[in-house]
Amino acid sequence: MTQNRDHLREGLKSIWGYAAFRPLQEEAAAAVMEGRDSIVILPTGGGKSLCFQLPAALMPGTALIVTPLIALMKDQVDALRQRGVAAGCLHSGLDAEERRETDRLLREGRLKLLYLSPERLMVEGYLETLAARGLSFVAVDEAHCISQWGHDFRKEYRMLGQLRERFPNLPIHAYTATASEKVEHDIVTELALRSPTRLVGNFERANLIYRMLTKKTKPKTAVYMQAGQLLDSRKGQCAIVYCISRKDTEEMAGFLRARGHFAAAYHAGMTPEHRARTQDEFLSGKTPIVVATVAFGMGIDKPDVRMVVHAGLPKSIEHYQQESGRAGRDGLPSECVLLYSPMDAMVWRKLMDTPDTPRAQLAAMREALRAMEQYASPGVCRTDYLLRHFGQKLEEEDCGHCDTCLGLGEDWAGEEMVPTDGATVIAQKILSCVVRMKERYGESLVARVLLGSRDKRIVETGLDKITTYGILREHDRRAVRDWIQQLKAQECLVAAGVSPYRVLKVTDRGWAVIRGTLEPTLAQAKDASPVGKATKERAPRASPAIRATAVEMILSGSTTKEAADATGRAMSTIEGYVADHFADDGLTDPAPIVDAAMAARIEEAYDTVDHEEKLKPLRDHLGDEVSYLQIKVALACMRNRRDSPT
Ligand SMILES: [Zn+2]
Repeated sequence: MTQNRDHLREGLKSIWGYAAFRPLQEEAAAAVMEGRDSIVILPTGGGKSLCFQLPAALMPGTALIVTPLIALMKDQVDALRQRGVAAGCLHSGLDAEERRETDRLLREGRLKLLYLSPERLMVEGYLETLAARGLSFVAVDEAHCISQWGHDFRKEYRMLGQLRERFPNLPIHAYTATASEKVEHDIVTELALRSPTRLVGNFERANLIYRMLTKKTKPKTAVYMQAGQLLDSRKGQCAIVYCISRKDTEEMAGFLRARGHFAAAYHAGMTPEHRARTQDEFLSGKTPIVVATVAFGMGIDKPDVRMVVHAGLPKSIEHYQQESGRAGRDGLPSECVLLYSPMDAMVWRKLMDTPDTPRAQLAAMREALRAMEQYASPGVCRTDYLLRHFGQKLEEEDCGHCDTCLGLGEDWAGEEMVPTDGATVIAQKILSCVVRMKERYGESLVARVLLGSRDKRIVETGLDKITTYGILREHDRRAVRDWIQQLKAQECLVAAGVSPYRVLKVTDRGWAVIRGTLEPTLAQAKDASPVGKATKERAPRASPAIRATAVEMILSGSTTKEAADATGRAMSTIEGYVADHFADDGLTDPAPIVDAAMAARIEEAYDTVDHEEKLKPLRDHLGDEVSYLQIKVALACMRNRRDSPT
């Protein structure tokens, strides 16, 4: 067994060039080498595919990898080939020659991994063909698709139940990023796994702050404003806003642009080219905000997404976990905000209940939605709820990173992160402390030693005598814990072992930081303890886009109030924008804001009423049926006419 582990570590280094496994990867890969069935549940970003790719590359024979998405198949095959691992795939998009080449390699026993969709694998007679080849094992990726309790049920996956009958002696391994107890049970029974090794990764994302805010639903544009305000606190940073309908994504993106953000819509109704362009511009940072339906995000691995806003309720905790999990992949503090209205759940219920939906599936969908509603209830620790959903438990009493535990009010405007001064030195202190503690303790204890805690356990074990004890005493507890997370995410530290006995170890990258040949990035909250402090909303800069939007809305018949709500400006500011538009363009006709008769009345009042350039006396004289907007526009046109030389 240790031989297997050594073999795996060598392979990891020589083929992948990595020095250390991420949590559970080694255990998962070892289960494959040992020829046992396994079920591996690793959260998105946990390095799931390596668990089967590495043993496949090392073992004799060909591994069959079942996966539903052609795009992901191609990416993985290309990446493997670049590493010199013989991999191929079979799907409908291949030309005859590529298919022949893959077949040839398979026949000659030179293929290490063969990726296929479930439909392709189950083509009549194909399993028999494969049986004649030397197979090493079967890996079923995205295994939750087999369960109708899962959020992504695919009928084709059900056919995989036949695998065990056809290949009674071949080990089968299931992988997924998300599985509740029910889904896990379905995976094990449907695939007929035999006393599988069960490995479940840690689903807690300590660098994410989870928040729920009551969604404003009236008028319809109010939620755009809400999202806009949230994003104002993260100007220039990357964010994803999820909406339920395609139309909403476009309207929201338009609104955000008018508010001065670089935002683009993304949904399945756009052309493939347009979608690809939007995605590229997001990845490159050119368009930092994408407003999308759930169609967006599959395979997106952008490390610096700082905020994920759900402007509509996700259908299930699995969806929410996956979508919100796209925030803060680099381990830096990021926010996940759910704008919740019970109305959204009602809309979903209506949409689900079609005559074509099988009753059992409908029940599953309803239950998933109920879980989402419970997650959004006031007073719930969001982290605890997410963890329990995935069969895990919060180790401490409060998570310290959700709105409930942090006591964040609805008006909390988010925290501003600033780069940490002297990041390298701080990182070196943390890493040296881990080394001094002989890499035998978990992160909570490391943080307490750095902060100089008089904790009983620390004193009893003599950890208060080591040179790094209290070395970060002057810093905030939260900052120290955040930095440890950030060093983990930057792969300078790794949490090894099985929860709850994980210990921190310094990786090769970590040693490079200690030696001063690598500089890590660290960040912290600008206000070290933001809890409960409401920051007053800053007025966003007036951008030409906002002016243009406001003017366009008024000219096409919106009220001043509507334009004010949509742009986040005061009504008097909107009136000013419109009057400026008439004044600057040299217009002399105030239509469509003011008709000729009313314009004459306003001009007459201007000339006869004593008003000292103030508008209130004019308004009082003219009466309520004339608005300030009309007065301002009529006067702008009057001045243009009177000032013109003719
Ligand atoms: Zn909490």
